Amino acid sequence: MQSIDNFIDGQMRAPISGEYLDVFEPATGRPYARVADSGEREVGEAVEAAERAFVGWSRTPAAQRSRILLKLADLIEDNLERLARAESIDVGKPISLARSLDIPRAAANFRFFGSAILHFASESHATDDLAINYTLRQPRGVVGVISPWNLPLYLLTWKAAPALAVGNTVVAKPSELTPMTAHLLGELCREAGLPAGVLNIVHGRGSEAGAALVRHPIARTISFTGGTATGAQIAATAGPMFKRVALELGGKNANLVFADTDFRAAVEESVRAGFANSGQLCLCGSRVYVEQPIYERFVAELVSAVGRLKVGDPLEATTTLGPVVSRTHLEKVQSYVQLARKEGGRLLCGAEALPAVSERCKGGYFVAPALVTDLAPDCRVNREEIFGPVVTVTPFYDEAEAVALANATDYGLSASLWTSDVARAHRVARQLEAGTVWINCWLIRDLRVPFGGVKQSGVGREGGLEALRFFTEPKNVCVKLDSPETSSAR
Ligand code: NAD
Repeated sequence: MQSIDNFIDGQMRAPISGEYLDVFEPATGRPYARVADSGEREVGEAVEAAERAFVGWSRTPAAQRSRILLKLADLIEDNLERLARAESIDVGKPISLARSLDIPRAAANFRFFGSAILHFASESHATDDLAINYTLRQPRGVVGVISPWNLPLYLLTWKAAPALAVGNTVVAKPSELTPMTAHLLGELCREAGLPAGVLNIVHGRGSEAGAALVRHPIARTISFTGGTATGAQIAATAGPMFKRVALELGGKNANLVFADTDFRAAVEESVRAGFANSGQLCLCGSRVYVEQPIYERFVAELVSAVGRLKVGDPLEATTTLGPVVSRTHLEKVQSYVQLARKEGGRLLCGAEALPAVSERCKGGYFVAPALVTDLAPDCRVNREEIFGPVVTVTPFYDEAEAVALANATDYGLSASLWTSDVARAHRVARQLEAGTVWINCWLIRDLRVPFGGVKQSGVGREGGLEALRFFTEPKNVCVKLDSPETSSAR
């Protein structure tokens, strides 16, 4: 069985304790690798290595940092097939999705921020004829990056790339459930010529390695993506230490379908939004609200479109839905389906655990995609994040009700709306409590736009300039102009 060790100071290092955790393949339910079960000491070593490396990396010219990050992007693309296969095995996601989304996006993260740093400028303010203020944006030092299991390489690099581009060094703690592509990234960093200690990867449980990183006094910047409850724990530790923290948390996203929409497109995209990655994307549209006149027809079409999804071995090219990530998660998803029944919901399809989809996959964590109707808007299934292939469908009668239903959750990450009425599209978008609103589409991503959530979906924004600013410390420098006029004005 392959051992996944920490990547510290440019070297693969076994955990000091010698302890490892099993890594399971969700499609088979069997352990296929073991990962370092690190804690305080390994995190300490990684932070010290990052602190030493910061001296050189922060002074490395931007053009040179850019060259290395662009090289890393090229290497990720060169290794696309290997990385996509590793991600598919580790997460259980269809290999077609890993090939088309996860790995290309990881390369794009390094390419985007490796280029952005060459164009990053800071402000200057002339104070009449008296002085000029300019803003220095300096790297903040050692950054802690903590990422989840649903998009392992995609999200780790989404944080690490901008942090490194502006001259910080990084200690990353990937999810212990899906550590493989982070491990492979360590190897590629060496090949790209990233100096030792600039990016360190420490594996282990969140409660041990993750928590140790959050409370380490040298890591004064923490970028976290994961669950809302974990985000609250991180904020409780980091707040009194006055760390800078970005929290990208859970979602329970609404998908509003008005009767005047392009019906076919809305059905197809609602299915994609609801069930992509087995519903395990923070941006999944798990609550569909449909305007009354088209409700019955829309629900019928949704059921048949869901029936066309191919649940199967994620390593097969034609599979559109793989297993969920773990046995614990499977049980959570199933418990929400039982709850939906208790709350008065009508199950139109899915939710029972599937029989083994193939001989190789007997024992995998498969669950049939589920559609539920007839639930009250304020029931738990409609308010809590399930993070699995379970979508609820509810009718609405007018625009005001649609907005109220969409906003009736503690989360506020994203929303989609479907209409051919341009005025309504903009009017509704303004009223939705969400960090991102998609009109007549879902998951079109541009790396320049601010990304993040409101309410319990998070604090802060990632992406584009927001990320470059988050990972730098602005310092105002005020230069007095000693011209004859200003001298006499004193
Ligand atoms: P999680 O919160 O359980 O774990 C995320 C990471 O935090 C893991 O690396 C974990 O080991 C670590 N961790 C756990 N406890 C910790 C602690 N006390 N201190 C420090 N680190 C700790 O989340 P998950 O189950 O891996 O991911 C699923 C969640 O992530 C969902 O809620 C989903 O919506 C959210 N998510 C959000 C976004 C976004 O951009 N907003 C993107 C993807 C996933």
